[in-house]
Amino acid sequence: MDKLDNEKKLLGDMIDLYCRKNHNSKDDLCPDCKELKEYAFYRLSKCPFGNDKKSCVNCKIKCYDNKHKDRIKEVMKFSGWRIFFRHPILTIKHF
Ligand SMILES: [Zn+2]
Repeated sequence: MDKLDNEKKLLGDMIDLYCRKNHNSKDDLCPDCKELKEYAFYRLSKCPFGNDKKSCVNCKIKCYDNKHKDRIKEVMKFSGWRIFFRHPILTIKHF
């Protein structure tokens, strides 16, 4: 698995978790989060760093437009530590 796949999985997991806990979605994401996820994956596939990139969490999503930037920030704020709890150093850096 290359880095971009890894990053996709991470982002996808964070959005899934956020939506399940905040929008009471079950098997499927709510339309908003679904759209956000598609957008995030699209931006990721266009990432100029390609496989050399660092995580989007560290990159600070400069490639997102205003409409999506705040939403993905919320997702990362909410899901970040839940995803990274096995990696304390990353968590500390993140906050
Ligand atoms: Zn949602």
